[in-house]
Amino acid sequence: MSRLLIVEDDETIGSTLQSSLSLNGHDVVLCVTGRTAIESAARQPPELVLLDLGLPDMDGLSVCRELRFLLPTAVIVVLTARVAQLDIVSGLESGADDYLKKPFSLLELQARVRAHLRRSGVPSSSDRIADEEAAFGSLTVECAARRVLVAGIEVTLRAREYDLLARFVQAPGVAISREELMADVWDSNWFGSTKTLDVHVASLRRRLREAAETAGGEAVRSLPEIVTLRGHGYRMDVSSNES
Ligand code: CA
Repeated sequence: MSRLLIVEDDETIGSTLQSSLSLNGHDVVLCVTGRTAIESAARQPPELVLLDLGLPDMDGLSVCRELRFLLPTAVIVVLTARVAQLDIVSGLESGADDYLKKPFSLLELQARVRAHLRRSGVPSSSDRIADEEAAFGSLTVECAARRVLVAGIEVTLRAREYDLLARFVQAPGVAISREELMADVWDSNWFGSTKTLDVHVASLRRRLREAAETAGGEAVRSLPEIVTLRGHGYRMDVSSNES
């Protein structure tokens, strides 16, 4: 069980996040002001913080900086309704590890929390259950069956393409380095060319897109996109709004 701190003044969002993350087996503390959050973090350090930037008593970025100072190793994920790129950059500069733009889906948030905790080595009781099926827009991955569907159309993938997709699905919106992908999907002692990674990503993209285009319209629009990050790796972006 890992300790999570949610800092959110919106009662509906706060209690929804608290109950769903508690159900996932986490010990969740909810604070509605920056000041109480800092006090709580000092008393009982959490492993992960979900921090709303728009708080009633303090500037969210100042809260972020204080939390980072108190919790050098915790994961801080900023929740922001502000969409300006500058806010995201300021958040990351203030010590946040990641951000989620509002509105986000609960599934997306849970996947992100799971990915961060897994990376920081904290086991989660929700791993097994949530790994069985993941859905993002028109994409559904049934992990136990290794089956991939786009808008209900089954997509046949090669083993490595499937493994890559499964890796992206574990951490939607999170940048994954080439080295990490090679280690996770191929071999932990990979020293050869990573060209094979690009080839597999390209064909994975093509197969998913072809299925989405067969289904048409909405399926294409809501298909997660595997974005190339030059000089780093890849990131799977999911559309944040279903409407
Ligand atoms: Ca707020």
